[in-house]
Amino acid sequence: MPDSRPQLQSARTLHASRALLPHGWAEDVRIEIDGTGTIATVTPDAPSSGAEIAAGPVLPAMPNLHSHAFQRAMAGLAEVSGAGSDSFWTWREEMYRTVGEITPEDAQAIATRLYVDLMKAGFGSIAEFHYLHHDKSGSLYADRAEMSKRILAAARTSGIGMTLLPVFYAHANFGGVAPHEGQRRFIHGIDGFERLMAELGPACAEAGATLGYAFHSLRAATPEEMNELLAGLPENGPLHIHIAEQQKEVDDCIAWSGKRPMQWLFDHMPVDERWCLIHATHADPAEIGRMAASGAVAGLCPATEANLGDGIFEAVTYRAEGGWLGIGTDSHVSPSVVEELRTLEYSQRLRDEHRNRLANGPHRSVGRDIYDAALAGGAQALGQPIGAIAPGKIASLVVLDGDDAFMDSARDDAIVDRWLFALGDRAVRDVMVGGQWRIRDRRHEQDDDINAAFKTAIRNLARR
Ligand code: ZN
Repeated sequence: MPDSRPQLQSARTLHASRALLPHGWAEDVRIEIDGTGTIATVTPDAPSSGAEIAAGPVLPAMPNLHSHAFQRAMAGLAEVSGAGSDSFWTWREEMYRTVGEITPEDAQAIATRLYVDLMKAGFGSIAEFHYLHHDKSGSLYADRAEMSKRILAAARTSGIGMTLLPVFYAHANFGGVAPHEGQRRFIHGIDGFERLMAELGPACAEAGATLGYAFHSLRAATPEEMNELLAGLPENGPLHIHIAEQQKEVDDCIAWSGKRPMQWLFDHMPVDERWCLIHATHADPAEIGRMAASGAVAGLCPATEANLGDGIFEAVTYRAEGGWLGIGTDSHVSPSVVEELRTLEYSQRLRDEHRNRLANGPHRSVGRDIYDAALAGGAQALGQPIGAIAPGKIASLVVLDGDDAFMDSARDDAIVDRWLFALGDRAVRDVMVGGQWRIRDRRHEQDDDINAAFKTAIRNLARR
């Protein structure tokens, strides 16, 4: 897709006393950014004359590879125990209740505030796995892309980098089971979904967003439908799918096909670098090996997976086999780079009763290795030139607070470890996306308006 971002901004130069470059930390780095928001040159050991001075260490902003923005509205509201054993499936009932009430205005206000919060916590771009398509009755809006365009509007107001993934969702379970009432706002046939995609091509180009698409899951799309869409839709752009999040899903898939979900996927679909497999929690050793060999990205959402009681991804084995991974905030119980990466590492420690599980070898920083891994996997999963401070990449950067005592004395990889394992979200001070400052000194230019609209949306949802 041609890059149609407006070329109105002026070129700028940023000088960082320390910056994380593709080959490691460098000092006195001069970063020149052109009028399209793309990094033109990166020069270490360079003077600061005429440049803006970064207020602390500079790193690539983190891509967020999995989001359902509307779910932010119900974060914290599904933490009351029910009559029986609570699981993902009882949480999903609460989610359907929220979904039944959301208007386009609500969706936009919720997503805008969420995207600002995510940038304040170190994310620079997001893949929105968007399945809330239709009105409350399940009918098309006058504009079939109404809800998708609300997401694009939220990205534009907040300034976050967007990969939009409209989701094909047609069934309630394996074998093409008819959808139920709670799913009415999600459902498409092939023809309707292809029309939505056709409409969103120009809309995304105009918004400077990347367009991919998603199959909701093997529960929600039949093999015939997946093959038809793969044949009919453009072959570029990311392709995501939820898979093997829950043991029940594994059991249902075996009952349907005789195979585990990931085993079925690798046997029947052309899984390669284009694909991002969201969760992949219940993967056996053979499936871990096939996923690592495929070049697909494992889309991990550790905070949501912990909240929902999904299980623990086999990240140690997967990394040892060279697998790609990235992080997403999914249901947004905690919009934070720190919480995702920390939960990823800590879940492995708790399971294995050992420390420092995801370092790439002896004497290496866990923080640096998982940050690098999630940058690379996230960039691949979003299909955007991001995730590195290098010429040709979009200038999406995080500036940590150099005034903080931890940061003031930290050098090189200790900067990442102090951020992820000590300071937390408040380490993030400024965030640039596409060459423009979106967060400055922990504030967004439109914080007041965005907060007011969000408060109205949450109030309205509580009343309905
Ligand atoms: Zn999800």
